[in-house]
Order: sequence, then C-alpha cells, then structure tokens
Amino acid sequence: MSYIGRFAPSPTGDLHFGSLVTAVASYLQAKAQNGDWLVRIEDIDRRREVNGAATRILATLERFGLQWDNQVLYQSQCIARYQSILTQLIANGQAYYCDCRRQRIQQQNGIYDNLCRHRQLTPQTSGYPLAIRLRQSYPIYRFFDQLLGWQQVDQALAKEDFTLFRRDGCYAYHLVVVLDDHFQGITEVVRGADLLIPTSRQLSLYQQLNWTAPNYLHLPLALNNDGRKLSKQNRAQSIAHAPVVNTLATVLQFLNQPLPSDWQDYNKEQLLSWGQAHWQTTAIPRQSKVYSSI
Ligand code: GLU
Repeated sequence: MSYIGRFAPSPTGDLHFGSLVTAVASYLQAKAQNGDWLVRIEDIDRRREVNGAATRILATLERFGLQWDNQVLYQSQCIARYQSILTQLIANGQAYYCDCRRQRIQQQNGIYDNLCRHRQLTPQTSGYPLAIRLRQSYPIYRFFDQLLGWQQVDQALAKEDFTLFRRDGCYAYHLVVVLDDHFQGITEVVRGADLLIPTSRQLSLYQQLNWTAPNYLHLPLALNNDGRKLSKQNRAQSIAHAPVVNTLATVLQFLNQPLPSDWQDYNKEQLLSWGQAHWQTTAIPRQSKVYSSI
C-alpha cells in the first residue's frame, strides 16, 4: 500500500512556526516514503474562520516549497457526505440526539454521563436544535503512536458518548477528521501532540464505521519563550513573511534532523530534498520544546 499523508490546517489564522513544523514533518515523512502529501482546509466551523486565512495558508505553503499532491479538499464543500454518514449512524442506533447543556456536563468533571442515550429525542419532537452523540460501543483504552509508543487512555474519556454534531449546527472535529482521512485514503496522520488525546475518540469512530484506521504520529509542540504552545488563538507570530531558507533550517533543527554545514547556500528546494534524503523519524524529539531561530 502506498503512503498517503496530509496536512489539515484550520483557517483560523495564519501559519506560525509550530504549524510549519507540522507541515514540513508531514511532508517529509510522506516524501521520504515516495508517498503523496495532501492538504485539507478544515473550514467546517465557519464562525472561527478568519477571512482570507485559507488562501494565505496555501500561499505560505507554496512559498516554503511545500507543494501538495492532488486538489486541496475544503471541508465546507463536503457537508452532504458528512450528513449522509451522520444520518446512517442515527438510523443504525449508533448515534443519538442530545439536548444537554454544557454547564450540566461541566459540573460532572466535563465527562458526559450518557443521559440522553435512552431518551429517544428527535428534532421533530423537541422543536429546538439538538446535538448528536456517538453511542460509544468501541471504547479505546490504549493506542500506539509511531513516535511516542503506547498511550493509555483515561477510562471515563474512553467510554464517553462524545459529540458528533453540535447544537449550534456544526459538525464536530472528531467526526469530520475521521470521515475525511478515510475518504482521502490517508495511511498515516502526522500532527501536533495537542491532538494526541483526541486520537482515542477518532480510533473508536473507525471501529464504529468498520473502517481501517491510519497510523498516528504526534509531533512535539513548539513553545514560545514563556513555555506556552504557539497557536493561532494566542496570536503566534505569522511566518507568512519569515525568511524561507532560514526558517526551514530552524524547523529541521527543531525536529532534530541533520543539516548540511553549508545550508545557507541552499535554496528551499535543495534544503527540502536534503531533508527528504536524510529524514529520520526516530530522531524527532518526543518532548515539546521552546524554539529559537537558527
Ligand atoms: N485542523 C486541525 C488544526 O488546525 C488539525 C486537525 C488534524 O490534524 O487532525 O489544528
């Protein structure tokens, strides 16, 4: 089976150094195995979208020489496919409607008590918007990460009937990420360690749908000087105008990959091909760390 990887940014802001680490690592991991590298814009939650961010993200990837294969997939254009699977899960009794308020769930340590499992709510009878939850039948208590090894999952979290569709009318991340990774034939998901914990939910959805799950590899997060993770939400500095070769070299160094001694004489294509030829998954650090420019 040939390797298909992906980079799946949400257009909630510009790419920052941490997102570039994920983009470069997923790209090199795919290319080092002669695989395809796909890009998917996760714009399912239109309210969190920042105007123009998707276009800027794609332009930044191109600026850094990260050319994707096939066409970019936009989640906002896949609603019919998501809806048909959700309808099928409800029809099979694998998912159910729920009207519980977040406040009530938060009072129970934030873990849902599966209250609506047997209430048989329907949008027709309730007359107000309902969420949809998975009836958890395949709790995942541990899973294997290609970099971090076996991961234990909190029992209560594993058994929770988590949300597939939100009351505000939005398809939940866990649902669409699984539907799309399967649809695009992704064989390995390489992404930031901030998404390590939700992986067990995604794996349980694969079982529920009777699909083969991809492998997962979670990368160290880039932290800023005060130890906080760089994120679009905390307005990490955009790399849209950062110096290309220098920033790519900083990414390779962050990932603990070898660099040619004369890397400053390389252009982006040469540095990426070097990165591809010398790519060592096992060298990637397991811990998140503060990054500093080379
Ligand atoms: N869209 C998510 C983000 O930008 C990544 C989802 C994933 O890689 O599974 O953080």
